[in-house]
Amino acid sequence: MKRILSGVQPSGKPHLGNYLGAMRQHIEMQKDYECYLFIADLHALTTVKDRDQMIQQTYDLALSYLALGLDPKKTVFFKQSALPEHTELCWILDCITKMPFLERAHAWKDAQAKGKKEISVGLFNYPILQAADILLYQPDLVPVGQDQKQHIEMTRDIAQTFNTTFDKVFKLPDPFIKEEVAIVPGTDGQKMSKSYGNTIDIFAEESVLKKQVMGIVTDSTPVKEPKDAEKCNVFRLYKLIASKEETKELENKYTKGGFGYGDAKKTLLDKILKHFGEARDKYNELTPKENYVYSVLEDGAKRAQVVAKATLDDVKTKIGYKL
Ligand code: ATP
Ligand code: MG
Repeated sequence: MKRILSGVQPSGKPHLGNYLGAMRQHIEMQKDYECYLFIADLHALTTVKDRDQMIQQTYDLALSYLALGLDPKKTVFFKQSALPEHTELCWILDCITKMPFLERAHAWKDAQAKGKKEISVGLFNYPILQAADILLYQPDLVPVGQDQKQHIEMTRDIAQTFNTTFDKVFKLPDPFIKEEVAIVPGTDGQKMSKSYGNTIDIFAEESVLKKQVMGIVTDSTPVKEPKDAEKCNVFRLYKLIASKEETKELENKYTKGGFGYGDAKKTLLDKILKHFGEARDKYNELTPKENYVYSVLEDGAKRAQVVAKATLDDVKTKIGYKL
């Protein structure tokens, strides 16, 4: 059976972009793959600097996955910070990676472009920690959104550097990116991102969700005029969760005219509530079951560590740390 691995940061609430671009695939792939999935709380430390927030967002992400159908018997589900192997391998990979190589990474270039002057060393080093996260588990595929493509290419390069500098340890993983949901747009039309404040959060309270959907940026075409559905963010999102028939129906309303963006937003909101209705019930049901949720993550960490430790031991042997 082929193996997959992926992670999501507890840097905010999970949103439609996370769900469509990554989480949905993680759940669907459970039936055909051996799955490793982690809450990337070490990565989230680059942005989250508050204890309660870290605890709350980590718990919320665990709940969200379980509510969406993650089966802890099938998927090894754990918190990254529970395993020292991630940071240990990160240091080793740091020592075989050159600075100019890291300077090409998107996350760092984006932060620079946004004028963030005081970028942490952690953010700069992010792709190497991510390479360690992946390589420890020797996965065949890494299901992610388009924004992670470059990081996976970097992971392959780093793996190859290790394999040729010392000896072969790492398998080179391939990204698994679904084209139609590779970059889900946010309410402002940019990539939906927790850090851009342009998200539609899948388990937000109804009033919050409504505000987010109503806040989607549209143009100023008057209600009675025909509209180009493909150019509208509301439609672009709707199409990703609606059936073909529903999509066609909404498209016709755009083309005919007499249908305003407010109406389109209402249609999208109803669709989101319906689509996640069952998962929402499950989410609410699981919310008070802390013991259960934490025990899933602890059990996952134990199972993950067996694999991570075996890879790290092999790395240490090849370097000369272990006889
Ligand atoms: P942050 O802004 O803190 O980086 P994020 O919203 O980008 O948060 P991540 O936790 O970094 O979310 O990403 C989790 C997964 O979701 C990754 O596989 C990423 O590629 C995917 N993803 C994130 N945003 C989108 C999006 N807009 N469209 C498709 N996939 C996405
Ligand atoms: Mg991100």
